[in-house]
Amino acid sequence: MRVFKFGGASVKDAKGVKNLISVLEQVGHEKTIIVVSAMGKMTNALELVVGAYFDDKKELNSTIQGIVDYHKDIMIALFNNSNHHVFKITEDLFEELRNFLKTNKSPDYSFVYDQVIGFGELLSTLIISQYLVFKGFNNHWLDVRQLIKTDSYYRNANVNWEETQQLVTKHIDSKKLNITQGFLGSDANNFTTTLGREGSDYTAAILAYCLNADSVTIWKDVPGVLNADPRHFKNTQLLNSISYTEAIELAFYGASVIHPKTLQPLQRKEIPLYVKSFLNPQGEGTVVNKTFGLLPKVPCFIVKKNQVLLSLSTLDFSYIVEDNISKIFNLLSKYKMKVSVIQNSAISFSVCFDDNYNNLETLLLQLKANFKLTCNTGVSLYTIRHYDDKSVEELEAGKTVLLKQMFQETLQIVTK
Ligand code: ADP
Ligand code: ASP
Ligand code: MG
Repeated sequence: MRVFKFGGASVKDAKGVKNLISVLEQVGHEKTIIVVSAMGKMTNALELVVGAYFDDKKELNSTIQGIVDYHKDIMIALFNNSNHHVFKITEDLFEELRNFLKTNKSPDYSFVYDQVIGFGELLSTLIISQYLVFKGFNNHWLDVRQLIKTDSYYRNANVNWEETQQLVTKHIDSKKLNITQGFLGSDANNFTTTLGREGSDYTAAILAYCLNADSVTIWKDVPGVLNADPRHFKNTQLLNSISYTEAIELAFYGASVIHPKTLQPLQRKEIPLYVKSFLNPQGEGTVVNKTFGLLPKVPCFIVKKNQVLLSLSTLDFSYIVEDNISKIFNLLSKYKMKVSVIQNSAISFSVCFDDNYNNLETLLLQLKANFKLTCNTGVSLYTIRHYDDKSVEELEAGKTVLLKQMFQETLQIVTK
């Protein structure tokens, strides 16, 4: 069986949905499960709904209406007649969303977030499934929440592999064309959970693992994995093949073309991952498999913007050793900071991280009791894999380097 994943960019409008069908026509559609994300930027739009629910209720209706209109425009363009039952199906979903917001009693932001945000994927897959039928492609629409079971760590849930394995084996007919949502799961109480932003690639890998799939293909708006993000770097090069370990390194440092959690399940079962262009399905793309290193072997650049660089020293100039470091890390973990670089000397300790949960103020307040702090927000973290003198020189030109670290094949710099 093959697993295909189509991200938000690939289905951002009616043309994109039609193109998805054209991809299936070109590469076949039997024995396939398609994992789809929310259309375009609908996950961000749903985040605004959650924001309005908590902070500004009078904005709630208009933020939802924006989402209704967006999908309606796509459906009108696809089905050209508003009597098609897809309109009723999506209306019912919006009714369910409004009902949840009306009746919810939980003050837990992350819980509410997951209950609301999942509608993006439910809408996209229902519309696409109906359109596939409309175009003569019979398919099975599956609610992924009945397949992927997780804990209740809302917004970044952890998969319960055993239960998931059983449900996937039971519910997916591997001979058919199946379609389901990326990014979502459900907890023991059947509440919706999410696997972390951009988590649909990971969904594809989870299903592939449980299905012992032959391959996973993620269809992107780029020709494959490049040696840098073309949005931030010029003269990028296509990587033809990458080993699992190399891809894990790239994803770990922030190469956002593959979600970092995607690779390990695939590596475990040696399932190849293809990254291909949805605009050029016959193109060679990139394969991630059991090979060694990467081909061609060129420096790879990764940037993470909007990071926090925090430097700590002890108030009494005592050394920063095990117990201090463990205190610092306990707090970083408690406030869900995603650490990307650490560097320490005898009396100072620097750490670069993502403040995804907006906890920086609280963290600083707690650390101030024991440490002298210097905090730089809005810094960028650049990583070069397989660096050489030329690539480092080019990268550093015109930037103020706040921290620099080299380890084997990897160089990292934090710049202002
Ligand atoms: P999806 O639609 O599946 O969510 P994403 O937008 O998450 O797709 O991923 C595709 C984008 O990833 C590309 O448009 C590109 O800007 C970015 N990207 C970041 N790093 C790389 C890289 N090394 N190679 C190719 N694309 C990259
Ligand atoms: N729709 C989700 C997001 O935008 C998941 C994904 O696209 O992978 O984060
Ligand atoms: Mg994405």
